[in-house]
Amino acid sequence: MRLGTLLATAVVATVTLATPSYAAPAPAPVERPAVIERAVIGHSVQGRPITAWHLGRPGKRRVLLISTMHGDEGKPRQILGALRDGRRIRGIDLWVVPVYNPDGLARGTRKNAHGVDLNRNFPYRWADLDGDYESGPRAGSEPETRAMMGFLRELKPSRIISFHQPLYGVDTDTKNRAFSRRVARALHLPSKSFTCGGVCHGTMTGWFNSRFPGAAVTVEYGDRPSSRHLSRTAPEQVLRVFGARR
Ligand SMILES: [Zn+2]
Repeated sequence: MRLGTLLATAVVATVTLATPSYAAPAPAPVERPAVIERAVIGHSVQGRPITAWHLGRPGKRRVLLISTMHGDEGKPRQILGALRDGRRIRGIDLWVVPVYNPDGLARGTRKNAHGVDLNRNFPYRWADLDGDYESGPRAGSEPETRAMMGFLRELKPSRIISFHQPLYGVDTDTKNRAFSRRVARALHLPSKSFTCGGVCHGTMTGWFNSRFPGAAVTVEYGDRPSSRHLSRTAPEQVLRVFGARR
């Protein structure tokens, strides 16, 4: 699927860098055979692009993986990076957003550059929260939130996995529990209920699950998952959830 005019889209296959005759031979361009296109879905508070990568095969079941929504939970993006930079993916129409909160990643903070927890800023049961879960001045106040809302409205994935740290488990208190259990089994993580200490206000998965027919689930790795596991084992486990391969 090609995203519409809403998104600044670059078809990666057309980007061929000819070596200019006046220069020494340049290193070969990085090969990313899994990538069909990349799209900038919006920009952060500080103007950093939020990039989505289109992998897999259009026409198949559409799946979206998101990581680094909290800037200090950056390890699981290695899974998405490994899928993007690896071999061609078959059997699934896959999009990945490895760094949803680029300002938070750059600053090493959970929140965005406005000090807002993006996972409390969505217009689903939004509440005025302060402190660790600062929810912003109003629902959808943050450019990162609006970027993801626009992207999800256009993409309409059938499944979303949102990767976090460090609670170590897969949320079973969600819309599609069979999907949640399948993810937990495939990723060898325990099933857990992440109740946000009560009701989850303004979460991305809550908003998506309430507005769209698809199902989104939260996956939490531990505090320090090994890079070897995240870059080698976990990508294959994720593909297995959806019957995909490469
Ligand atoms: Zn998180």
